Amino acid sequence: MSETPDTVVVVGAGPVGLAAAAHLTERGIGFVLLEAGEHPAAAVRQWGHVRLFSPWRFNIDAAAARLLTGAGWIRPDDGELPTGAQLAADYLQPLADLPAIKPHIRYGARVTAVTRLGLDRVRTAGRETTPFLVRLADGTDVLATAVIDASGTWDLPNVLGSSGIPAHGETAAAAAIEPALPDVLGRDRDRFAGRRTLVVGAGHSAANTLLALADLAGQEPGTTVTWAIRATDPTRAYGGGEADALPARGAIGTRLRAHVDHGTITLLTGFGVQRLSPAGTSIEVSDGHRTVTADRIVSATGFRPDHTMVSELRLDLDPIMSSTRRLAPLIDPNEHTCGTVPPHGVDELTHPEPGYYAIGAKSYGRAPTFLLATGYEQARSVTAALTGDWPAARTVQLNLPETGVCTSNPTITDDTTPGSCCS
Ligand SMILES: Cc1cc2nc3c(=O)[nH]c(=O)nc-3n(C[C@H](O)[C@H](O)[C@H](O)COP(=O)(O)OP(=O)(O)OC[C@H]3O[C@@H](n4cnc5c(N)ncnc54)[C@H](O)[C@@H]3O)c2cc1C
Repeated sequence: MSETPDTVVVVGAGPVGLAAAAHLTERGIGFVLLEAGEHPAAAVRQWGHVRLFSPWRFNIDAAAARLLTGAGWIRPDDGELPTGAQLAADYLQPLADLPAIKPHIRYGARVTAVTRLGLDRVRTAGRETTPFLVRLADGTDVLATAVIDASGTWDLPNVLGSSGIPAHGETAAAAAIEPALPDVLGRDRDRFAGRRTLVVGAGHSAANTLLALADLAGQEPGTTVTWAIRATDPTRAYGGGEADALPARGAIGTRLRAHVDHGTITLLTGFGVQRLSPAGTSIEVSDGHRTVTADRIVSATGFRPDHTMVSELRLDLDPIMSSTRRLAPLIDPNEHTCGTVPPHGVDELTHPEPGYYAIGAKSYGRAPTFLLATGYEQARSVTAALTGDWPAARTVQLNLPETGVCTSNPTITDDTTPGSCCS
């Protein structure tokens, strides 16, 4: 065992876990931040080549900015759209390296389970006063008074199979399947150059990859690009073009449509992946009626929260979204884009298990409407509640402009394409 039970455990040193660390520091609460990767922002670095769709002003937590500024940090230009790599290098790494935070972070510390010391999920007596037990992959146990789970969803991509379970042959074909957002024009170029790639998915991760592949096809003979979506009409994936409320999103859709119109990208609509079969060194992908032969398949079908590590805690999960039930209607992608999610805090994030809060991308479950700015407000509200400062916890201060959060007169300093989760 390590840590005294007056410690808050934060899981994940992504942007939201680090924001929680900043708020805990300001409030003088002891904490330990457990990060599976060897650096802060391990997930963000994996999509470091993608440009965010929201400018710096919405990507920096207020408490983090105060601590950083006090240490002489130069704030990036509020209007610029950073890449994931810039978000990590220019903000998250300096934040994690602050003397007030660095000693409390453990890297290479993957949490495998969170429970109550000596109590399983069924035992009620003494539950509220019993410390949390946080188990790491190396077998170490850490005790905590509260757990803030900011472990994101990046590690659990959706499957290709259109029924929500792996398609027949999907597991066996794993070597040919890429998770979302490979760095097609950079690090991962060799895997795509001169090869046939099938991209599955209709969101902006798919769009970003498709545009990069279309560029590659212009540079490398033999590179072909096929795009499969379940919908029978691609209009929603294209966004609103020049009339789109989010200019960067509109620009992506317009470029995508042009590539489809010109035949650089072959679009298959109404295509739900049912089966993958090996065909020599390639893979045949079928929807039961049609078959596409590809060398590489990019699975851009979204992400899921992993609740297995907290399965001994008492959670009240929405049956559709896998967020808390109270949060679900506020983030429902059928009703909201990221810019229209209403502000929310500790009350919407509370589970029946007192002292456990999932915040950040994980808190949204399967909803793709998460924004850093809402995650930072979650961190502020939850840490205020942990000190008993309920007036501050319940005064939800977030005020996002409905459209400007995704691009607000942004300054783009090169020609990379902004990514987007606003779908
Ligand atoms: C390509 C892309 C572009 C985006 N662009 C924007 C944008 O422009 N604006 C915006 O507001 N949002 C954007 N988002 C959405 C969202 O803000 C990001 O996904 C953000 O990284 C979520 O932050 P997080 O801290 O919740 O989770 P993450 O960044 O995923 O961080 C989670 C951390 O937890 C660690 N971890 C995971 N499991 C464990 C474990 N079991 N034990 C210990 N550590 C663990 C991971 O290694 C990681 O470091 C974008 C997302 C993507 C994918």
